[in-house]
Amino acid sequence: MNIDAALIEIERACGSGSVRTDEATRVLYSADASEAVCPPPDAVVFAHSPKDVARTFAVAQARGVPVTPRSGGTGKVGGSVAAQGGIVLALEGMHELDVCPQDWAAVCGPGVVLGDLHRAAEAENCLYPPDPGSLATCQVGGTVATNAAGPSAVKYGATAGYVLGLQVVWPDGSIHRLGGRTQKRVSGYDLVSLMVGSEGTLGVITEATLRLMPKPESIATLRCYWGAANSSKGTSSSKGASNKRASIGAWIQRARLHAPDLRCAELFDATTLSIASHHAGLSIPRGAEAMVLFEVDGDEAAVAHQAPRLAEAALEHGALDVVVEEQAAKRARLWDARRSISDALRKQARHKLSEDVVVPLSRLDDLIAACRELSEEYGIVIPAYGHAGDGNLHVNFLWDDEGQRPAVNQAIRALFERTVEMGGAVSGEHGIGLLKAPFLSVEQPEPLIELQRNIKRVFDPRGILNPGKIFGGASCPGC
Ligand SMILES: Cc1cc2nc3c(=O)[nH]c(=O)nc-3n(C[C@H](O)[C@H](O)[C@H](O)COP(=O)(O)OP(=O)(O)OC[C@H]3O[C@@H](n4cnc5c(N)ncnc54)[C@H](O)[C@@H]3O)c2cc1C
Repeated sequence: MNIDAALIEIERACGSGSVRTDEATRVLYSADASEAVCPPPDAVVFAHSPKDVARTFAVAQARGVPVTPRSGGTGKVGGSVAAQGGIVLALEGMHELDVCPQDWAAVCGPGVVLGDLHRAAEAENCLYPPDPGSLATCQVGGTVATNAAGPSAVKYGATAGYVLGLQVVWPDGSIHRLGGRTQKRVSGYDLVSLMVGSEGTLGVITEATLRLMPKPESIATLRCYWGAANSSKGTSSSKGASNKRASIGAWIQRARLHAPDLRCAELFDATTLSIASHHAGLSIPRGAEAMVLFEVDGDEAAVAHQAPRLAEAALEHGALDVVVEEQAAKRARLWDARRSISDALRKQARHKLSEDVVVPLSRLDDLIAACRELSEEYGIVIPAYGHAGDGNLHVNFLWDDEGQRPAVNQAIRALFERTVEMGGAVSGEHGIGLLKAPFLSVEQPEPLIELQRNIKRVFDPRGILNPGKIFGGASCPGC
């Protein structure tokens, strides 16, 4: 690769100031929100139009320079880290946003911050449902590329359900439109779906047309506390205060029967409950070992009917206490506390690794039990929390002593193996990126992985786009 000549050509094509090679910029763009640590890229190219992306690719192809797309840089698996050097292609400058309520759609540049899209949609009485915890900083391009989801996926699903159309630049520099502003279409292969979740390995998204929903009239938020008997693998025949006592996973699985408009069910285990409660200034009822944060949304009458019915059913099935959060300010503090857990856990030990496994809902109790068993077997603190309503938990590994690292590695592999045995996947929402690449084969057979490599070769025969991601092959000294 002839990087110096390439950078001169890119700056000439994209304009003065589009290429930065100073140390501070390269360091800033050398990491995302994961534990991936790679050397800084050779340069950061700031694109302001699809043509800038196309021009960058034209030079990168000719000079054999790797290109790694990046939107908000909040990824959790090192996807936007330049694992093989070259260029980080920053798309944050492409933040045009047009909300079109008449089409129930919003047309967004890849650099639109998701929280800005939420606010713009709400101003038109619309809702863009995907709500990852990072929504204050993640950007549309990254959320489409990772098929991001959030707490409300229980009712509304992940990003994939909202992408109507894309403008994409392939690695050969050609610009294409896939799908469009219609609510549905069946014309040829569904390349929009192929792009969603492709983690910046097939092409660069330069515009996304996203489906909007009606903004719900009302939201009810419930804090539902559970004691040790329920947070362990209890059964409906367990003895206790209630003869209908249910284990927490079984209860989460059934909650929708009581509240069909359930939009989220977020689990906090004992450790994360303590952290979040401290952050939100809430006291924990005596004996509580876990909490589920439920939300129901919809029209006012439906919410007014379903929320109390959910609370009653929870108490009947063994919940210690249920608190309905009525004030908007308290609700906001609670969600702020939920979003701060990842950072707070980082302060609890010298080292932290966070996994993102997902299992079928019927196996949620087994996943919770597996975390506890792995913690005992390997002597590592393993708090787990997250989108339990989707069977998706963020399982964290915390340790202080360098000597524990081999045990951590074994425990992580064991977690993935057990998840897959349960019919689950190694990632529920963060993707594979750089950090999970060594574990894709735990879930998928080699011929299926090879088929996906071949698909990548069709789009990117020279392998210049985000090399080393999903399928491995990159060495990252710090990983
Ligand atoms: C506090 C916190 C909470 C989080 N909570 C959630 C959550 O609830 N749910 C969830 O799903 N994730 C969550 N995440 C992870 C992360 O925010 C998501 O993966 C998000 O979608 C990444 O968006 P981004 O703009 O930051 O992408 P980046 O980190 O910039 O990139 C992510 C991937 O997309 C590729 N990419 C970026 N832009 C483009 C583009 N325009 N075209 C093609 N490829 C591109 C990159 O190469 C990379 O592989 C959380 C992260 C943090 C730090």
